[in-house]
Amino acid sequence: MSSQPQVILKSGEDRRVRRGHLWVFSNEIAEAPTEGLPGQLVEFLTSHRAFLGVGFYHPKSLIAGRLLDRTAAAVNAEFFVGRLRRAQELRERLFSDTSWRWVNGESDDLPGLVIDRYDQALVVESTCAGMDLLLPQIVEALGQLLPQASIVLRNDATVRKLEGLSTEVRVLRGAPETPHWFVCEGLRWAADLLAGQKTGFFFDQRINRRRVAELSSGRRLLDVFSHTGGFALTAARAGATHVTAVDESASALERATLTAQNNDLLNRFTAVRAEAFEYLTQVKETYDLVVLDPPRFASSKKNLPSAIKAYIRLNTLGLKRVSGGGFLATASCSQLLDRETFRQILSRAAHESGRRVRLVHWGTPSMDHPVRPGMPETDYLKFAILAVG
Ligand code: SAH
Repeated sequence: MSSQPQVILKSGEDRRVRRGHLWVFSNEIAEAPTEGLPGQLVEFLTSHRAFLGVGFYHPKSLIAGRLLDRTAAAVNAEFFVGRLRRAQELRERLFSDTSWRWVNGESDDLPGLVIDRYDQALVVESTCAGMDLLLPQIVEALGQLLPQASIVLRNDATVRKLEGLSTEVRVLRGAPETPHWFVCEGLRWAADLLAGQKTGFFFDQRINRRRVAELSSGRRLLDVFSHTGGFALTAARAGATHVTAVDESASALERATLTAQNNDLLNRFTAVRAEAFEYLTQVKETYDLVVLDPPRFASSKKNLPSAIKAYIRLNTLGLKRVSGGGFLATASCSQLLDRETFRQILSRAAHESGRRVRLVHWGTPSMDHPVRPGMPETDYLKFAILAVG
């Protein structure tokens, strides 16, 4: 006898889940409970009543099911200790410091949960109703694994609205300072864990920053959409002669400046508060290295065509600012835009800017944002370095 409500899939709709995907869409469900909280734990069964796993069910969400476990495990604090420990071990295998994305949702078998670790401070973000219901167990598990850490809950992502969830930011444990200082890649960074964008720092570009840094020595760099100076300051530390960070957010640039100061890089750093397209249109100077790391332009399939146009325009403007013999490093974090389309965008931008380019490097999200091979949705970040001239 089963103790949990059951969700039964339509015939054949279990195939994707069996191959490693974790989502069940609402139109793939034959039978579901009519009572219970959105996000409640259920058992997922095939049309032949074969057990697929346990997970969350949300009656009103397009992503109606999210698989949490493929056995009939009890979902309690011990369960989360196991999942968190496995995710932690991977990061410790990959990095020697203690600032990384600890949990990257579906890729770490924890759908809808993000945890960023900033040394002794954690930022937790839940994007689905099911994870919201289990937050007490998650916080208990975090307490067992990292008892001294302060914990901030950043439930302010707009995707929460898709599950009818309210937004809030709250300190769950300890007293995190603003700015919070943490060490990543040998630099000491300032972040605002309570009000900075996303969780305060973008760990997903860590490895791509290394690639740019490798090219930086003796060169001048322009970092557009710089946020807290990730690319600019990694490059400055690696020997760039001067770095200019452009962003429209004054507070992000303030933290970039603090970080520059703290790492003795201020004499090679300039912060410019400006709208990126305007800046790139107006500035006359050229740079040996130009970095473009815009926010997500494509938020829905409907606006994909206009997003593609914006990417072409941005990269055209960026290429015009690269000195002969220099490089453009350019990213897109729009999950809906695939790698092939991004390649075509770069080809169009090269054509429109009249620059000759060679693509010398393709990048992905950093290793603490592992991709789940059976789930293309987890492979969202594209990064390319073009040699110009
Ligand atoms: N490159 C950064 C992350 C970029 S996040 C890093 O390595 O950490 C995107 C940044 O773009 C945010 O800081 C946001 O303030 C900025 N931004 C968004 N729209 C902008 C615009 N139109 N002009 C300038 N900056 C913009």
